[in-house]
Amino acid sequence: MKDHMIRGTGFGSQVRFFAASTKETVEEARRIHDTYPLCTAALGRLLTAGAMMGAMGKNDTDIITLRIDGDGPIGGITVTADSHAGVKGIIYNNHVELPLRADNHLDVGRGVGKGTLSVIKDFGMKDPYVGQTLLHSGEIAEDLTYYFAESEQIPTSVALGVLVDTDCSVKQAGGFIIQMMPFASDETVSIVEKNLSQFGSVTNSFENGNSVLEMIKNIIPDAEIESDIPVKYFCNCSRDRVRRALESLGNKELQSMIDDGESVNLHCDFCNKDYLFTIDEIIDIKKTLNLQ
Ligand SMILES: [Zn+2]
Repeated sequence: MKDHMIRGTGFGSQVRFFAASTKETVEEARRIHDTYPLCTAALGRLLTAGAMMGAMGKNDTDIITLRIDGDGPIGGITVTADSHAGVKGIIYNNHVELPLRADNHLDVGRGVGKGTLSVIKDFGMKDPYVGQTLLHSGEIAEDLTYYFAESEQIPTSVALGVLVDTDCSVKQAGGFIIQMMPFASDETVSIVEKNLSQFGSVTNSFENGNSVLEMIKNIIPDAEIESDIPVKYFCNCSRDRVRRALESLGNKELQSMIDDGESVNLHCDFCNKDYLFTIDEIIDIKKTLNLQ
């Protein structure tokens, strides 16, 4: 089963949902960033949230960035997603190990620590929208639930899960975001809350062979899918974009690179690609800049 995300409604449109399976995406992130299990779980949870929250945008070109800055050993995580469930991420410390929690789960909360969660929505306007809340547990799903309540005033339930296999590869990953519409009745709210309390976990549901829709039907029995799109780890860097970034440095900076006399290597932290520019190419970029 390939990674995908469904969105839709239930309870006669009183509830909307986003739900995703992200095993391949998180495994790709693990491969790129060489993460230890705790870091795979932390990064994977935020990537999964990003894939779903990116799809909440109204326009095709909207970009959302989720940033966690914590005082735990992980340090920080950044995830950027487009509106088509293409996600990429960076984790500051990829080799963090901590003892398992009492319930045998990876201790993401301690790995992240205390700090802030920022949600940056770039709608292509001059200034992006930035919402920031304090981290409540560092477990990420709970932190996002608080973010939606505090910053967007939307009653929301977020569940995220990454199950790491004994060989450190990703066995299961996914999550859901369930939101109450303003006109949801008290009865609907209490049914959803009851179903959520009996739900268990995302990774358990997948381990039991449930599809994404079957998982969501545990909480929203009449869930109807409005769209179903593939989720993927996607970095939009390219030689052209890096070249434009070099141009934007301006004459002085480019001249100083030329004076240094060494080729310049630019590294993409999201996908680990390297872009090497020789001095001749830098001279050429400077010439193009001065022709504009
Ligand atoms: Zn890249």
